[in-house]
Amino acid sequence: MAFFPCDVHGTMFRGAASHFYPAIVRGQDSDREHMRVCQVDAASLLSWADAHASRVTEGTQFELDGPSTRCLVCDLQSAETDAFFLTAYPKGEEERQYYGRVCPEHIDDLKRLLSWPARRARPAAQAR
Ligand SMILES: [Zn+2]
Ligand SMILES: [Zn+2]
Repeated sequence: MAFFPCDVHGTMFRGAASHFYPAIVRGQDSDREHMRVCQVDAASLLSWADAHASRVTEGTQFELDGPSTRCLVCDLQSAETDAFFLTAYPKGEEERQYYGRVCPEHIDDLKRLLSWPARRARPAAQAR
């Protein structure tokens, strides 16, 4: 079995990984990541997603003023939000898909919240 560091807590772990593919999409631009996560952190990411994002299943209809139009960080509704997608492959479970919105100024907060790996941080952020 291969060993990898968990992308949330940062050190090696035993056992199978869950895989998360978060993405933030604005028009043609998208910012995507693949996270390999231990069981404990996978459970907390999924409970965050269940509590804040909209679960997408076949035939899901998004209401224009429903929770899926509110920013995942500040919970406000804004016309300027970007789309957030999260596809999760929890170990031993079915794929789950989530959808949400995020204000441009809250993207960094959302990434911190998810422990979105910083290794592909924008150059401006690395220069600080
Ligand atoms: Zn972990
Ligand atoms: Zn916001």
